[in-house]
Amino acid sequence: MKIKNFDKRYYKKCPKCGLVKTVDSFYKHNRYGVRSWCKVCESDSAKSNKNKLRRHNYYIKNKSREIEANKEWVQKNRAKRNEYMRNYMRLKYLRERKINYEHTHINNDIVWA
Ligand SMILES: [Zn+2]
Repeated sequence: MKIKNFDKRYYKKCPKCGLVKTVDSFYKHNRYGVRSWCKVCESDSAKSNKNKLRRHNYYIKNKSREIEANKEWVQKNRAKRNEYMRNYMRLKYLRERKINYEHTHINNDIVWA
């Protein structure tokens, strides 16, 4: 819809939606004029900004949750790994002792010529 030669004191074209609206469809900017976007577009923009912010916050929250989960996984795994290493070292120690024990015994059984 295009209005030619509209009275600028009472009508204004919103560059966002492209509609020509009366100035009371715009928020007052100061005592001389109004804001460039109409009220509908301004509130739409505010809404989408809020949505964007909410999505951003969700992302941040999710990201930190992900990091937290990852930390937990590392901690759990580290405990598991430590336990495994402890068992491994113990087994290794026992095996070596056994080998040494057998080794010395075998040595003792050898009758040197
Ligand atoms: Zn508009």
